[in-house]
Amino acid sequence: MARVNHSEPRSQPASSPGTSLGPTGATALSEAFDGRPGVMDRRGRALRDLRISVTDRCNFRCTYCMPAEVFGRDYAFLPHTEVLTYEEIRRLAAIAVDLGVRKLRITGGEPLVRKSLPDLIAMLAVLRAPDGAAADLTLTTNGSALRGLARPLADAGLRRITVSLDSLDDATFRRMNGVDFPVSRVLDGIAAAREAGLDPIKVNMVVKRGENEDSVVPMARWARAEGLVLRYIEYMDVGTANGWRLDDVVSAADIVGMIDGEMPLEPVAATYRGEVANRWGYRDGSGEIGVIASVSQPFCGDCTRARRSAEGKLYTCLFSATGTDLRGPLRDGASDEDVRAILERVWNDRTDQYSELRTEATSHLPRVEMFVIHHSSTGVENSWTGSAAPNRSSWINALPGRTGGGYIQSCPKGPSGDEGTEITSRGPCSGPVASGASLPGRDEPPCSSPGWSPGGT
Ligand code: SAM
Ligand code: SF4
Ligand code: SF4
Repeated sequence: MARVNHSEPRSQPASSPGTSLGPTGATALSEAFDGRPGVMDRRGRALRDLRISVTDRCNFRCTYCMPAEVFGRDYAFLPHTEVLTYEEIRRLAAIAVDLGVRKLRITGGEPLVRKSLPDLIAMLAVLRAPDGAAADLTLTTNGSALRGLARPLADAGLRRITVSLDSLDDATFRRMNGVDFPVSRVLDGIAAAREAGLDPIKVNMVVKRGENEDSVVPMARWARAEGLVLRYIEYMDVGTANGWRLDDVVSAADIVGMIDGEMPLEPVAATYRGEVANRWGYRDGSGEIGVIASVSQPFCGDCTRARRSAEGKLYTCLFSATGTDLRGPLRDGASDEDVRAILERVWNDRTDQYSELRTEATSHLPRVEMFVIHHSSTGVENSWTGSAAPNRSSWINALPGRTGGGYIQSCPKGPSGDEGTEITSRGPCSGPVASGASLPGRDEPPCSSPGWSPGGT
């Protein structure tokens, strides 16, 4: 059987590191990146992709993202007045598209808990780049509310979607989502997305050692049979609340090796510069998988992504500690040109390359939480033990500057109990949700059931 080289180089390095461009020079020179006009950063990377968080709230408590013991009853999520309105979101997106952004990804928190999300989709679907091209509009969701929302989203102009799903095994999935949510409901959401014509449907699976590596191959079998594009994601040290350790990362090479042992794979060329996933096709032509190897094979050199938090801060890296406030200027009457100039300046000054510099020693640095991207600290501190980590994988040892270590997480709030669990396991409009109880991040149930009003836009 032909074997796969699991260590394929993923892309060319960015051109002209150190180039600093002012707004006026940005457009012409960004063409050196991918042949298209736009704005370029100091390492020669164009701005092509904007991830738009529409809420910092979520009805799940995934252990690797919003662990329930940290993000419990007392956690202070954003008040609605501090969250950008749909018109503010549209305006910023329009300016970004005018600047060369080609992909708009709606995310969160859980984007489907935001009221009337199809209205926002309709507002974004009509945006056009200067050359008349429509932006590539997509959305990442935990899938819990898709049964009710897939059709309205498609009718509003959404063409494709990504659903996060970490296991087909119900017990594993219920444990990892932190709220005992059954996998059958997410699978039904995916079925609804298919019925609504969303295509392609991609599935994100975060792989965490000791949690769900047993699900890697079953997920591949299932996605191949279902015609879904499965993307495995190396567990990342995003935020500071999840107690990340290198030992918990299952490398892309190991993931590909597991699948290749049963279903032979071969590398597939990237379709565009800056593509996040390493793609692998089944040798029999029956589909493909992708692996997002941001820990073991960093891809900062081609990173074209900016992130905009629910409260309107712009982050130029997933691992940024601080963002640039855009809401203030918007609400203070800034013109489109003013806002455009801020975006250009921030991107021109960008030098981020966190994943290329990552060691365990960098992981305690303050940074925004992935689910929120709305402020620089959760108020939760991790303690760096400095101790050597046992069972380190050989791939991480081989990387320059890697050191062993681990974290002991100290949570100032302590265990939060099981509030909210019933919300998701019992189904829509029951328990604390229907009664209007205020549970941060969970005052909005996981579906679009009639009569439910999760708050303003
Ligand atoms: N709630 C939505 C969802 O889960 O799809 C959208 C927001 S979620 C933050 C976006 C993606 O980030 C999901 O696919 C999730 O699995 C992934 N993610 C969250 N924490 C992660 C971590 N520590 N490492 C790798 N991926 C992570
Ligand atoms: Fe899980 Fe997404 Fe919610 Fe994070 S934002 S807890 S990844 S569903
Ligand atoms: Fe992009 Fe930052 Fe991730 Fe590097 S670490 S790929 S710059 S988001």
